[in-house]
Amino acid sequence: MIEIRSPEEIERMAAAGEFVASVLDETAAACAVGVNLLTLDALAHDLLRARGAESCYIEYHPSFGGSPFGKVICTSVNDAALHGLPHDYRLRDGDVLSLDFAASVDGWVADSALTLIVGTLREEDSRLISTAQDALDAGIAAAVVGNRIGDISAAIGSIARAAGLRINTDFGGHGVGRTMHGDPHIPNDGRPGRGLPLRAGLVFAIEPWFMLGTNRIYTDPDGWTLRSLDGSRAAHVEHTVAITEAGPRVLTART
Ligand code: MG
Repeated sequence: MIEIRSPEEIERMAAAGEFVASVLDETAAACAVGVNLLTLDALAHDLLRARGAESCYIEYHPSFGGSPFGKVICTSVNDAALHGLPHDYRLRDGDVLSLDFAASVDGWVADSALTLIVGTLREEDSRLISTAQDALDAGIAAAVVGNRIGDISAAIGSIARAAGLRINTDFGGHGVGRTMHGDPHIPNDGRPGRGLPLRAGLVFAIEPWFMLGTNRIYTDPDGWTLRSLDGSRAAHVEHTVAITEAGPRVLTART
């Protein structure tokens, strides 16, 4: 079901978005060579408790997950593209790390992700992250009244294709509201002018993710982490965005 949010509801989602953004800011700031992924998860957990917010992940157990997620943040390192399950791993110089975090604050959810490089950057990793960011910006710019879902998808896809990347459309953006995942699905590629017409009050997570060498993934034996089939590195960025008469409003903007 596709739901339309009132301006008051969007304000409440914005409060959730502000919290989610602050957690990503704090966990990103804590990333450094030698820091354990479990430490990042513990930090995010502390911030949830301090805010009285609920994790959207810890008990999350969809059909594609091996078991309840059990952690509060996704930490995807290098060839891990999505749903990286935090484990006992210390970050190394040059690692590409994506952090994906969603929380419910007073019953409203926001969902956001960023990708960073730990220590010394490799040019190709930096380009990959920039492309994902450009695709996110283009997707957000297309999230306007009068457009359709396909315009968001096409905007994202065209940036990736121009950068020579192949696109996986199995996982992508989604409606956000009282729960983390709602209709519609927003693939990271598509045809302009197709799909659901965009109306004020729709709230979506828009989330391009790309891998350097492939568009194919496999599931790690941990039952969650999705890795690139060829071992190439991945980047993933995401914002929760409300469509308003005044244009797209990013609810998870970071400082
Ligand atoms: Mg997310």
